[in-house]
This record gives sequence, C-alpha cells and structure tokens, in this order.
Amino acid sequence: MVDVKLVELSAKGFCNGCLATKLWDELKICSRCRNARYCSKSCQKAHWKKTHKQFCKTPEQAKRESDAESWNNVYKEFGHKQTSMLTPVTESLDEQVDRLENWVEEWKSTLSSWAFWSFNIPASREDVLSNFSFVFEVQRRAEPPSPAHYFEMHGAEIMHTSEVIWLFEQLKRHEYLKHWSHLPRRNDLIQIIVMWKGHVIDFTRQINDRELRKKGPDARLLYDALAKDWIDELRKAIDSGNPDYHKQFYNVTFGETAMDVSFRAGVESMRKATEQIRGQKV
Ligand SMILES: [Zn+2]
Ligand SMILES: [Zn+2]
Repeated sequence: MVDVKLVELSAKGFCNGCLATKLWDELKICSRCRNARYCSKSCQKAHWKKTHKQFCKTPEQAKRESDAESWNNVYKEFGHKQTSMLTPVTESLDEQVDRLENWVEEWKSTLSSWAFWSFNIPASREDVLSNFSFVFEVQRRAEPPSPAHYFEMHGAEIMHTSEVIWLFEQLKRHEYLKHWSHLPRRNDLIQIIVMWKGHVIDFTRQINDRELRKKGPDARLLYDALAKDWIDELRKAIDSGNPDYHKQFYNVTFGETAMDVSFRAGVESMRKATEQIRGQKV
C-alpha cells in the first residue's frame, strides 16, 4: 500500500543556500559534487562563498578520501564524530529502549533548548520549522559514571524532510517513516528526533509567538549568540553530564540580575526577573 503522505513529502527538496523548500524540478544540482541543490544561481554563489567550497568534492575525490579524512569532514560540516568502538550491548531490546527513553526524558530540556537555538529562524523564514527537523544521534559512552552519562552525542543536524526520508529509508525503518510522515508540521513547532542505533524517539518543542518574532535587538543578539557554534556547545552540555547545563544560557537573558531560570518555569521566571530589574531602576 502506498502511503500518500510520504509520497507527497518526498516530492520536495530544499535549496542549500536559502533553505526554501521546492519541488525537485525547481532545484538545480551542483555540477561538481552532484549533491548540493539550489533554487537560483545567486543562492549557489552565496552558499559556495559561505561554506560549500570547503566541502564540495567530486564523487571521485570523495572516493579517494581515507576513512579518517571523511570523518573529519563530516565532523566539520555536521558535527558527527566517528562512532567509538565499544563492547557489544548485551541488554535485551526492551532494556535498551528503556535506557534510551530514560536518558531522553532526563535530557529533554537540553535537547529542546538547542533545537530552538540551532534553528535561529529569521522572521521571514518561518516555514523552515514545518520543513526541517532537529535530529540528534547518540552513542554509548564507555564506562559511564552515572545514568545521565550513559550516552554521548554522536552528532546533531537540522535535516530537511527529504533528508529524513532518505535517512530512514537507508536504515530500512519504513514503519517508523510512516509514523513520522504523519506527525504535525507547523511553523511554531520543532520536530525533534533522537536516534540510537535502530531506536528512535521523537518529541516536539512548541515555539511561542514572542520567541518566533525575536522582538527587539537584544533578543536577536542573544539568539544569534546561542546559534553560533551550537553543535560544539551542545556537545559540551552533554559531555558535562549535567542536564541543567542549558539553564545558564537562559540566565544570560537578563544578565547578572537573572535568577535561576528553569526551562519549564522559564516564562514565569523571566517575568519575575523583568519585574525585579524594573524595581531596581525605580
Ligand atoms: Zn535558494
Ligand atoms: Zn558542490
């Protein structure tokens, strides 16, 4: 049976330059790497200057790369580390799923925060959220000191729908793909996917109106700062083994006057912090 939703989603790709989602026919492929696609010459030129010239290789060049070189390039471009060699997992499938679920539960706030910061959506490009997902891949950490350390970050990426479809097709996870294709796609919702080997957990991060519009120059500066080097910063957070690591970045919002802002109570605390700041000025 053909899944109509998936067929519909598969009909579109995206411009690597401006991230606009387009029908495949509307995109032109980079003649060198046969990989990157663009909606226009100007997008291609701008993207080449910005990042693509570092990563664009002919298929022959890519084939000649050693394993170490290609991992190095993947790390530079997407933040994916080579999977470490570990002793085989001896747990049952259920135990593994439990472990991943518990770990994700503990790190949900961290992952949601970075999912939002990594997108750094310009006000004009709100459709980005309905066409891209935040994909986070974990790997087991050798000798974890605590359950919070059980996994480490393998890599994280903002992936277009077409890339997610390609990924799960490669992994032969057709059942999951079917489920995933029917998840809501909205301009105020981030779809987050956490993967470990064959296991996948998805959840969403709701974006409120204020966050979307990024009102005021201060807010914009803050978001730009958080989006910069987000892969390395997220890796630091996970490596710290402290699921509250991300909270320090919420404190930045109000500088030294900020109280401990927890993610869930974030809005409430920020409101209080604002009142506090105002109170001090009187
Ligand atoms: Zn474009
Ligand atoms: Zn190219």
